[in-house]
Amino acid sequence: MRSFKQEITAVFGQPVAENPTQVMIESAFADSGLAWRYLTLEVAPPNLGAAVAGARAMGFRGFNLTIPHKVAVIEHLDSLSEAAELMGAVNCVVRQRELLVGENTDGKGFVESLREVTDPAGKQVVILGAGGAARAIAVELCLAGAARITVVNRSAKRGEELAGLLRQRLQADADFVAWTGDYEVPAGTDVLVNATSIGLFPDVDARIPLAVDTLTEDMVVADVIPNPPQTRLVRDASARGCRVLDGLGMLVNQGVIGFRLWTGVDPNPAVMRAALEEVFG
Ligand code: NDP
Repeated sequence: MRSFKQEITAVFGQPVAENPTQVMIESAFADSGLAWRYLTLEVAPPNLGAAVAGARAMGFRGFNLTIPHKVAVIEHLDSLSEAAELMGAVNCVVRQRELLVGENTDGKGFVESLREVTDPAGKQVVILGAGGAARAIAVELCLAGAARITVVNRSAKRGEELAGLLRQRLQADADFVAWTGDYEVPAGTDVLVNATSIGLFPDVDARIPLAVDTLTEDMVVADVIPNPPQTRLVRDASARGCRVLDGLGMLVNQGVIGFRLWTGVDPNPAVMRAALEEVFG
């Protein structure tokens, strides 16, 4: 038995396995034969810098961040990936030797999931929403060669900002459309993405202001909402004959990318999806 020295033993006063991402990643550790842990720690915004310093001091191999930490964490890191720098947001930190590098895996997870049904290169894409998820998806779609991105958003400021970022930083063909009334999806659209929070549990019956009869069967319709996976949009688009992607695919794939960056091992996505399906019922 090894001797214990210089150690701090963490004691948690609440269950730490309630976060779906934790259940998903820990199932992949078990499946890959890695005796690693992925724990959920609540950090109040004023303590973020101290928490990152603690992660360095305690030798974390990496961590994920949720709102409201995705932007604020940047000043505490040593460098950023190209995508994270473009998006101005980090959801995944990877320790490389003694340095903490900020990455954004949300958009990459989406694109990987989209590639299972179509190649984004050369596609006409409409994105509903202009928040963090929309930003991550739009940047990665441009990097993957999408031909045109239309950002549709309720708040003009956020929508114009995102379309401007795509044009200026990525030289993309991008425009903004103000979202008033039921949005009619233009003919010729290849991919429609719901990147708003409409439909997220517990507001599962909330309706996206969308003219569903403008969805045609040559379109791919993707929803970012992971909980519940069968959103109203997923059901409506399936009924219209579209190819449909639910939010679990994006969540699993961003997890796969983070797992690979932290461990150097390729996890089994099917195991991770099954773990999430069990959590979300
Ligand atoms: P933000 O709060 O940054 O953005 C929310 C977006 O939704 C904004 O564009 C907002 O518009 C729009 N919106 C919200 N309510 C309405 C409404 N009633 N009508 C019209 N537009 C609305 O959130 P995020 O971008 O971080 O997250 C969005 C969703 O993506 C969440 O539900 C989250 O669960 C999901 N997500 C899924 C991931 C996955 O792996 N599957 C990963 C990351 C996020 P406005 O600007 O006008 O307020």
